[in-house]
Amino acid sequence: MTVEPLRVVVVGGGAAGFFSAIATAETHPHTQVTLLEASSQPLAKVRISGGGRCNVTHACFDPSRLVQNYPRGGKALLGAFTRFQAQDTVSWFATHGVPLKTEADGRMFPITDTSETIVRCLMDAAKASGVELRTGIPVSSAKILRNNFEVVLKSGHTLECDRLILATGSNPVGYKIAQDLGHTINPPVPSLFTFNIRDENLRKLAGVSVESVGLRLTLPGKSQLEQTGPLLITHWGLSGPSVLKLSAWGARVLHECHYQATLLINWLPPLTQEQVRQKLLAVKNESAKRAIALHRGADLPHRLWQYIISAVGIATEDRWAELSNKTLNQLVQELTQGQYLINGKGVFKEEFVTCGGVNLKEVNFKTMESRIVPGLHFAGEILDIDGVTGGFNFQSAWTTAYLAGVAMGKKEGV
Ligand SMILES: Cc1cc2nc3c(=O)[nH]c(=O)nc-3n(C[C@H](O)[C@H](O)[C@H](O)COP(=O)(O)OP(=O)(O)OC[C@H]3O[C@@H](n4cnc5c(N)ncnc54)[C@H](O)[C@@H]3O)c2cc1C
Repeated sequence: MTVEPLRVVVVGGGAAGFFSAIATAETHPHTQVTLLEASSQPLAKVRISGGGRCNVTHACFDPSRLVQNYPRGGKALLGAFTRFQAQDTVSWFATHGVPLKTEADGRMFPITDTSETIVRCLMDAAKASGVELRTGIPVSSAKILRNNFEVVLKSGHTLECDRLILATGSNPVGYKIAQDLGHTINPPVPSLFTFNIRDENLRKLAGVSVESVGLRLTLPGKSQLEQTGPLLITHWGLSGPSVLKLSAWGARVLHECHYQATLLINWLPPLTQEQVRQKLLAVKNESAKRAIALHRGADLPHRLWQYIISAVGIATEDRWAELSNKTLNQLVQELTQGQYLINGKGVFKEEFVTCGGVNLKEVNFKTMESRIVPGLHFAGEILDIDGVTGGFNFQSAWTTAYLAGVAMGKKEGV
């Protein structure tokens, strides 16, 4: 008697869809895996990721530290990372012929420095393991039959399968399919964005960067959010790792206040107000006859220093000796708690993700199987998981996809 192969349909040919399809086919060679991708070009985000270099993961190999990079989903991912974490991603790509390298800040890229290497690797691995890739096939819905699923294509055709993996990223159709199958979708909102600041003089400093600033976001009735790190001034406001991290942790609250909030910047962390005051007083005593604009009282880029002193009314020709106590106090305040009004969000082209998606309580993180519909699994950004910038978003996609793939042989709760 011949045994029918287990039919697995993966919806979505992005990072998570490919990785779960490959994990299924490699772990369970008896399965028949069909990967359905709506567009004609699979892996589109992988291709453009990391500025075309694909920041595959982050060199953080301790699950308890790794989870700290996820504003949403960290808790659920802890167990998942003990099964497949960044080190496993490195090994997986190495055994599939793609060595990764680590940059000074921990980000990991293919040594070729091109995302095409990752695209090729996933396409080749899918083909080698027998995954049937079908492109230009948008899925519009899925129905639960007695013991299996009917996947309805936009063309009107249907496809039956025993297991269904939804890996549709932040696509609204994917959320709708999950919702129609009984899942709760936490409302999607953008994460990882830059801040628009309507200050013409600040914008004139576009291109100026500071190695370390302290940022504090104050929102009425909400707890304060803080981040320290590099900052970049842009043509529209502020960007850089500190801003992106703050945007990720504050994604929901910033959305609720329509991206209108006050940002406090300490340009000189870890110095306290008193330490900055003492520093400025020392410069005042030592360099009384020198112009404040030219003889900086803080280790900041020249143009930024001039912008800050002019914000408190210090003229270009003013000398340190002429600095009144009142202006000195204002300068201390501006350097340690400068106020900037966030007026909307910009885009971050290098990496951009959506927070929100399938409610994590409804998913078993050992198998990524739905707790509501047996046989239905989720992988990648469709889940309410998002990380800060640095390779963490792909890592959660690889992890959830891998766990879904290896779990294909089993069925929870039936
Ligand atoms: C510009 C940019 C750069 C990025 N760079 C990085 C980076 O360097 N490092 C990092 O960690 N993260 C990066 N990210 C985030 C990362 O790309 C995502 O977290 C990741 O791609 C999520 O993978 P996914 O497979 O879940 O979703 P996606 O990559 O969005 O894939 C979902 C796929 O499903 C398909 N699909 C959707 N609906 C249907 C349907 N109904 N039927 C059939 N197919 C469907 C879509 O066409 C798509 O191909 C970047 C994001 C962007 C936008």
